[in-house]
This record gives sequence, C-alpha cells and structure tokens, in this order.
Amino acid sequence: MSGIKITRNSSSILIILCLFLCSGTNSTAESIKIDTYDIVIQNAMVFDGSDKPAFPANVAIKGDTIIEVGNSINADAARVIDGKNLYVCPGFIDLHTHVDYGMYFPEHRSCLNYLKQGVTTVVVGQCGDSAWSIFEKAQDQIQRWTEKGIGPNAALLVGHGTVRRIVMGKEEREPTPEELDRMKSLVKEAMEQGACGLSTGLIYAPSSYANTDEIVELVKVIESYGGIYHTHIRGEGEELPKAVEEAIEVAEKTGVAVHISHLKAIGKKNWGLARQACGLIENARKNNLKITADQYPYRFSRGNPYTPLIPEFAWRGKEDPEGLTSSDVEKIFGLLRDSELIELYKKTTPYVPITENHEQFLNELPRRRLVQLVSQNWLNPSDFQGPDNTRERMLFLKRLKDPNESEMIRKAINDHIDSLSGAEDFIIGICVEKNLEGKSLQEAATIKGMSVPDVAIELELMGAKCVPMKICESDIEYIMKQDYVGTGSDGTMAMYGIGYPHIRSYSTFLHKIKKYALERKAVSVSHVIRSQTSLPAQIMNFNYRGWIKAGYKADIVILDLDNIVTGSSISQPHQFSEGVEYLIINGQVVLDHGEWNGTLPGKVLKRKGA
Ligand SMILES: [Zn+2]
Repeated sequence: MSGIKITRNSSSILIILCLFLCSGTNSTAESIKIDTYDIVIQNAMVFDGSDKPAFPANVAIKGDTIIEVGNSINADAARVIDGKNLYVCPGFIDLHTHVDYGMYFPEHRSCLNYLKQGVTTVVVGQCGDSAWSIFEKAQDQIQRWTEKGIGPNAALLVGHGTVRRIVMGKEEREPTPEELDRMKSLVKEAMEQGACGLSTGLIYAPSSYANTDEIVELVKVIESYGGIYHTHIRGEGEELPKAVEEAIEVAEKTGVAVHISHLKAIGKKNWGLARQACGLIENARKNNLKITADQYPYRFSRGNPYTPLIPEFAWRGKEDPEGLTSSDVEKIFGLLRDSELIELYKKTTPYVPITENHEQFLNELPRRRLVQLVSQNWLNPSDFQGPDNTRERMLFLKRLKDPNESEMIRKAINDHIDSLSGAEDFIIGICVEKNLEGKSLQEAATIKGMSVPDVAIELELMGAKCVPMKICESDIEYIMKQDYVGTGSDGTMAMYGIGYPHIRSYSTFLHKIKKYALERKAVSVSHVIRSQTSLPAQIMNFNYRGWIKAGYKADIVILDLDNIVTGSSISQPHQFSEGVEYLIINGQVVLDHGEWNGTLPGKVLKRKGA
C-alpha cells in the first residue's frame, strides 16, 4: 500500500514537522510517514536490458535513480504502480533520429510521437546535419533544451555537412589546408561543449563532396574525447559493400568507434547484399575494430516515402528549355542588395526572433551564398514540378501521343518500378480510388485490365501516392539478428497531421517488438529490447542508462506487450502508437496510463567528461 502521498517539495517540510512531533511526548507521528521511495513498480515482469527472458520483480525508484530491483521490496512509496500483466523495460534509446529540427518548435519539444513508443533518449545531429542550426553552437542548443525542457533525453552529434557548409559553402572540391583546419576546430569546439561525436551523410551534398581522407582527419579530432562516429554511408544499393569498407577504413585509421546508420540494402537487384555487409563488419570486429550499426524495421525508406511512378527524366523528357531552374530563381534574387536579401530572409525563416549569432552569421555570409540561402527559402523549382504543375502535365501528355516518346516513357517506367521493388511490391498508399489503397501496382493493373506502365501513368496523373518496398524482409531479419545492431528510427519530429512522413516516426520501437518478435518470431522479445536499451547505451557510452539495475537512471518503459497497437500506415501515417502504459524518464512519470502528463524531464546527455 502507498504511504501518504507527498511531493518532493513538501518532503522537507514533512521532515521538520515529523521531528517536531517526535520531540514531544506521546508522539502522534506514526500517522505521518516518510516514504522510502518515490515510485515502486509492483507485480511486473522485468526485461532488464539483457537478452534473457523477463523475470518477476519489483522496482524501486528514488529521485532519478533505480534503488532496488527484487522481490522483497516493501512498497513504501509516494507512488505505487501496479504492473500486473505489464512488462518493465529500460527506456528505449533511439540511436538515429532527426527530431532535433522539429524540436525547435516549443509544442514539439516533448517528442510525443517518440514518448508514445517508449523512447526515453534520442541521438540527434544525424546524417551530417549538426543537432543545432548552422548559425548556432552546440552550447546554444544545450542551453535552450536545458532551460526549456525536453521530453526524452538527447545526445548531440556535430554534423560534417554543417561544418563543411559553414567553411566552404556548397563547393564541390577538396578543402584547402586552412579550410580543413577550420573544420577541425569547429568539430573540436562542439566536442568541448558536450557533443558526443560526429556524423556524416555521405550521399548528401556537401558531405558527399568529401573524400575518405577528409573524413579521417575530422574523425581523428573526436578520438581524444572518446567520441563516436555515426555515418550514413556512401551507398546503400549496389555500392553497399564498398561503402561499408570505407566506414571500416575510417575505424582502422582513427581507432574511433564507428557506427553505421540505418544499415540496409536498397533496390530489388541488391536484395541479399545485407549478408555481405554484415560479413565485412564481423571481420572488422574480429580484428578488434569497434563497428556497430542500427536499423529501422520497415521495408521502405526515406523521410517522405511516397515515390513518383514515372522517373523524372521520363516525365520531363529532354529538358524543357523554358522550365524553371534554380539558377533562374537565383538570378531574380541576385538583383537585390544584401540588406534587402536579409530583410526577406527574416520574413521567411522559422528561427524567430533572430539572435545575435544568427544576425552575425547572415552578415558574414559571402554574397553568393546569401543569394542561395534566401532564394531557396522563397522559391524551390522542385515545388513546381510533377503532375500538379499544369505546364509539365501538358508537355507530358503531348509527348505521350508521339509513338517513339511513348515507348521510351513506358520502358522507363517499367525499369524504374523493377529497380526499386517490382510492381508486386510497389504499394498504393493514398488514392482517390479508395478501393486501390493498400493494393500493389500489379494488383491494380489486374483489376483495371491494364499494363503496369499504363496503370502507373493513370495513377500518377490522378495524384496517387505510392510506396515501393525497396528492402526485402529476409535482409531486415538477417541484420536484426546480429548482436551489434541496435534500433534507430531515422524518423522526425512529425508535425502532427501535416504532410506524409514515414511511419517510422510513429511506430519503430513497438512495431519491431510486435512484428518481428511477437508475430514473425524472427528474434526474441528480449533480443529486441536489448537492441533498443543496453546495446545503444553501450554504443553511445552512456553512463548508467539502458538497464533495469540498482544504481542506474530511472528511464523506464512499462509495456502492455499483449496490446500493442501501431496504427500508423502508409495511407494514414499520423497515428500515435499504443502499448506504453507508463513511461518514466529520470525518475519522473511522463506517460501515465498511456497519456502524457505534460512533464519535460529529458536532459541533454553530454559526452563523458564534458
Ligand atoms: Zn541517413
């Protein structure tokens, strides 16, 4: 039974009151009792973070720490949570998410879509983009999140792409020795301020312009800080093995722990390459290199997974000489003075109000980069491309009437669909013909009695949103089974109800348990739990997190394993997951009976020693 409910603020008053009462004769203090614990979880089964099965135990928490795990705990606590039919696990740690951008917006600092999945810590600053804006320092973000509060704990990475953009803009060339030094000093500064490591996004400009030597030089900087290098490698299709080799080379040359983000083989003809990639990693690990990886448990990729059915070159044909390009847009904005450009920028940036650092960043930008920055904020030629652009639509329909062009277009569509997933694995997510939602292109072709390219053209012109299953199930399961592979959602802080995000932002952690452990039985539940708790804590070097053990931080998920609901689907992506009955972060209850209570107890987890 619970003792008298007291809040932490009132506890010292109670102690004084108790002392006062005890000092008198015939004490009546018996009715006022100081609780031994703040929270005790009773009657639950515990997954402790290892891959061992769950065991029955009570868990006692005081402050932000787990004090005891065992069967003989007296439930003498301010709050007793009945864990009957529920499972206690360490809080889930997301090794790879892009929530940092969305968390700029105050209403999204809670990361509710992640709390609902049981996530208590996120690792941000991924794929080469620093966990803070280009005109800020790590300490600005740390200060903001510390003062204002965040839902989950957050560990920050410095992004190579951001650092390169600050020093070299979007120049596609090697840095000069001076530029390389400047980049190194920016990485060093971020590490000094508490970043946990460095990230690259080697398929994204300008990260992609760097050769391996440049990466090695920057990774060397984080070595003395015990930093970790997260990499979105240079290729995930047929280049996968070569790209994994590059990551291993960086580990060899620097001695730094290298973590490969969202490991997978993309494109139907590359299915099976996951085994080769894992083989390379395992060899390197045998040679004592520290290589790990993370994975999201879905067959489709990309932040916006909806993919056009007609490849761009087939849709637009030989470039429309009068079509809008970015240099057209830049020409328009190039007519303005610097001060006018900055005024326009201020009217479009979400980073308001503009801070002193931000102002200085704008004033110091070279003219060309200022024009690029402002014009892109205003007008992106790609916003004018696709079937909703009436000019492009007219030109496409005209070309379709030309027999030669028409044959080229149909062949291009076929090749495009085959290379991604095949028609049987290209799924119609959202369509004005509702009966087609959830069906494959192949099924739609059969229903309509049309060829695959013809049905693809029809669907594209009616604005259907389709998703190719570019990753195969056996690769996903093969990667998942490896004991060095953690979970990373690669999701975002979705603006609820807006746009079409990948459902990984809503369901990764519970979907992995439900589909791959409970339903397909590809791995055990405890294997999945380990991959999202103690393993990521070890990879990230987190102190005292990732386990249900005495002395560890009280980041805890209490899960209704039998009633997990992951309603998010490619036709209805904006759905919160269900199944997390309680979520505790740094000892504070955040989800209570599945509902967020408004607290923001997350901390910035600085690298050890910062
Ligand atoms: Zn990435």
